[in-house]
Amino acid sequence: MKIFISADLEGINGIAAPEDVEEVGAGYQQARIFMTEEVNAVIDGAFAGGATEVVVCDSHNISQNIKMELLDERAQLLRGDTRRNSMVHGLDASFDGLILVGYHAKFGTQHAILDHTFNPTTIRDLSVAGVSVGELGMNALFAAEKGVPLLMATGDQALSAEAKAFDPEVETVIVKYAEGRFCANCLPRTTTQRMLRDTAEKAVRAAKERKPVAVPANPEMKVTFQQVNLADGAMRVPGTKRIDSMTVGIGAENMDALMALRQIVFGAGSDFYNPLF
Ligand SMILES: [Zn+2]
Repeated sequence: MKIFISADLEGINGIAAPEDVEEVGAGYQQARIFMTEEVNAVIDGAFAGGATEVVVCDSHNISQNIKMELLDERAQLLRGDTRRNSMVHGLDASFDGLILVGYHAKFGTQHAILDHTFNPTTIRDLSVAGVSVGELGMNALFAAEKGVPLLMATGDQALSAEAKAFDPEVETVIVKYAEGRFCANCLPRTTTQRMLRDTAEKAVRAAKERKPVAVPANPEMKVTFQQVNLADGAMRVPGTKRIDSMTVGIGAENMDALMALRQIVFGAGSDFYNPLF
């Protein structure tokens, strides 16, 4: 049984503020260790639950966060960016389940640590087939199209709620509670590592009975940017249409193509970013 783990940083226990997740930040080196510990707990639980192969996709920023010298030796690690499929690169139909570790709520969520949707300075909202999605929803739809169900998601209480709204069957672990956007009430690390291990074991053991959510055919994506000029920039991508002043829409034959298009549309928009206006 093959399990794919996509690991982000904002939803890891002990992470509360931007300084914890930026490479130059005071808390970043410590955050890398916390992230690796949580991924290890999930790997251990996955193998206990029947996994025979685990692939970990380092998925925060430039994807060089996990400390490989501390990573469970049984897992493979996908490290580094410039990938076609971003946070779920390498996930294909051969996998039996997806686990999202250290994820966070979508942009604009109240009582959520470091809420954002891919890029907080440029992206306000993302929707697929008319449903607003965060990183969890986008990546889980990509997996579902390949027949791979979302087994488990971990982060703060807002991320847990977002996961349950996406699919009530998903197992979640709440490792911290948001007191504000940059203030977390963190549970003891040993406690959350035990919860992560036990829940991963349970989720992987039940993987065969899980069905992925339905995925719309020919999905349309709408991107609402933070500035009008960003939407102007995105309109240079062939096939886009203007929905409103800050929203651009584009369709694709499937989620696989849409995932690649998302990065192109975001990038074309970001070219026109202005930090003042
Ligand atoms: Zn991140």
